[in-house]
Amino acid sequence: MSYSPNHPDLTTWLSIDAGTDFPVQNLPFGIFSTEDRNERPGVAIGQYILDLQLLGEANLLDLEAPYFELETLNTFFSYGRKEITRVRDQISRLLTGDSSKLKDHQDREAFFVLQSDATMHLPFTIGDYTDFYSSEDHARNVGTMFRDPDNALLPNWKHIPVGYHGRASSIVVSGTSIHRPKGQTLPQDASSPVYRPSQLVDFELEMAFVTCGENRLGEPISIDQTEDHIGGIMLFNDLSARDIQKWEYVPLGPFLAKNFGSILSPWVVTLDALEPFRIDSPLQDDPKPLPYLQYQGKGHFDVNLEVAITEESGETTTICQSNFKYMYWNMFQQLAHQTVNGCNVRTGDLYASGTISGPEPTSYGSMLELAWRGSKPIQLNSGNERKFLADGDTCTMRGYAEKDGVRIGFGPCSFTLLPSKS
Ligand code: MN
Repeated sequence: MSYSPNHPDLTTWLSIDAGTDFPVQNLPFGIFSTEDRNERPGVAIGQYILDLQLLGEANLLDLEAPYFELETLNTFFSYGRKEITRVRDQISRLLTGDSSKLKDHQDREAFFVLQSDATMHLPFTIGDYTDFYSSEDHARNVGTMFRDPDNALLPNWKHIPVGYHGRASSIVVSGTSIHRPKGQTLPQDASSPVYRPSQLVDFELEMAFVTCGENRLGEPISIDQTEDHIGGIMLFNDLSARDIQKWEYVPLGPFLAKNFGSILSPWVVTLDALEPFRIDSPLQDDPKPLPYLQYQGKGHFDVNLEVAITEESGETTTICQSNFKYMYWNMFQQLAHQTVNGCNVRTGDLYASGTISGPEPTSYGSMLELAWRGSKPIQLNSGNERKFLADGDTCTMRGYAEKDGVRIGFGPCSFTLLPSKS
């Protein structure tokens, strides 16, 4: 029988913590540094990081040196999906003992770094960044709140995966603190705008995929080919200043309300690791999408998502439980649509899902929806309430898929909101 890195019975000879986000079936890629050594690629395994640069230098991988002499994953991912699969397969064999080269290596310990001793960095240099708007419940909630409950979805919504081009420079890795932004807003009942700290800082619970390999300008990626261009998935918090957004978004959409900091989790979980968690997409027959958007097969992923607020006092409350499956448009449809006009994507582009809300009020993926535009404040375990984030709040997103005793986790996507800079 052929070797399967996803098999639920696989175990590693390395002693790893039970319940980890990173069992041997996961093996996500990331970029880390330690006190003694700069940024380099690694793979998360349990509480450790396997140092791919050292692994390459010791010739333990069947790769042409200096394959992992990299400070970002861009070059590696530019080799394409099949190469990512091949490398993950090799790493899996080393960690399960299918190949004894690492297990029996005399300096075996040297290849592993405790995650608690490492600093994580953005996994790649992000090129272009698009944010979609692909959860039907989210779009309906927003449409109901700000327009007409009877016509909550705009006429185009079920025909095109709606999106906008965002800004890449302000995307930061999990663990980065962000100051409350200042900007221009129009206070309620005021006739002219003011410049002041945003009063309505909100999170948006999203997932994002990174592209691997590029298409040429003018040559769309057909929906059948999109699978080969998605390198992996991460958690993403599209931080939003609702008061700035409300004043600026007409007629061209989000601008400064969305580029004061967006948070990305550091580990790129491959589509290969998520293969066992693929599920059917929701029925799309009213209306049927145009042929270039029609997807055959299991295009959605069953990934549990949650958001917690930790107050300055240290008390934590989980305020949202959602799931990546609550999407209308899937990633393959999003990428096919992004390129249908001939737009070229490059390795390291980021495509975020849009806020992921489910059908239940506890599954809404933003505070705007959870507190229903401020009318139903969110109750925290401390007795405090929130309509939006308060200074000192830490907002942590987590995600994991789980089946047959295997948990494929993403690690935290976390940030702390600091007071506005004076
Ligand atoms: Mn968003």
